[in-house]
Amino acid sequence: MKIVTTIDEVRAQVKEWRAQGLSVGLVPTMGYLHEGHASLIDASHSGNDRTVVSDFVNPMQFGPSEDLESYPRDIEHDAALAEAHGCDLIFHPEPSEMYNKGFSSFVDMTVLTQELCGLSRPVHFRGVCTVVSKLFNIVKPDRAYFGKKDAQQLAVIKHMVDDLNIDIEIVGCPIIRESDGLAKSSRNTYLNADERKAALVLSQAIRLGSDMVKNGEKNCSAVIEAMKKHINDEPLARIDYVKIVDFATMQQITMLDRPALCAIAVFIGKTRLIDNFFTEDVIG
Ligand code: AMP
Repeated sequence: MKIVTTIDEVRAQVKEWRAQGLSVGLVPTMGYLHEGHASLIDASHSGNDRTVVSDFVNPMQFGPSEDLESYPRDIEHDAALAEAHGCDLIFHPEPSEMYNKGFSSFVDMTVLTQELCGLSRPVHFRGVCTVVSKLFNIVKPDRAYFGKKDAQQLAVIKHMVDDLNIDIEIVGCPIIRESDGLAKSSRNTYLNADERKAALVLSQAIRLGSDMVKNGEKNCSAVIEAMKKHINDEPLARIDYVKIVDFATMQQITMLDRPALCAIAVFIGKTRLIDNFFTEDVIG
């Protein structure tokens, strides 16, 4: 496995693979890799001849008061994990490699970004769509892998490739959790011991809501209120949102009469964590 830092090196390597008729999968990440990322690398490894992992903390998707500076980084650990899961090339650029002086072109999206994290983090999806478009243009993969953990991001990227006629298959992969249920996240490292315990309210609320849906509850506010009550019982938790949206439009719905996403964002102390379930995964 190679680690490269420039766009030219990525292009040269991919060109060589293409000349041999090999297929290429891309796994975009912000690094500090864990088993959630590993599951995406595994999926790419089994679906493609070669796998590229991008490892880049993208400044453009962080708001001014967010955790860009403190976001955890460990390229040695990432390289070992990625290689063990079949990665062939890590692209680990500096921000200056991705954003030249005078950078002024952005990929933005309306509608799908107006709810959930798009509402709480106004610049986030513009940064995500821009960097993912750039990575698609640099690597030109056949397939790209994204986690359902970031369900709105998955929906936004799927919509973006459709809107912009980008010829890349977008593959969504299941949420990987700790043994006690907490969804794996690079940001879990911010939690102290008490917060780590308190963070379980997210996966517990997801379980509570998905069980209600599985048992036939169709009224969104009944599900949302039960989940909110559970989270609010934890003193260290502060709800950003608990919402149910139409998965196609990301707009809130009142009845579960179509494929929907139930998504939550909760601050545990200062750390903002997300989790979700798809009604399709619960009721089939
Ligand atoms: P990040 O490094 O947080 O930007 O995540 C990179 C990719 O890994 C995104 O597509 C995430 O959805 C995915 N991912 C992160 N955590 C998990 C998880 N616990 N399970 C599955 N995918 C994940």
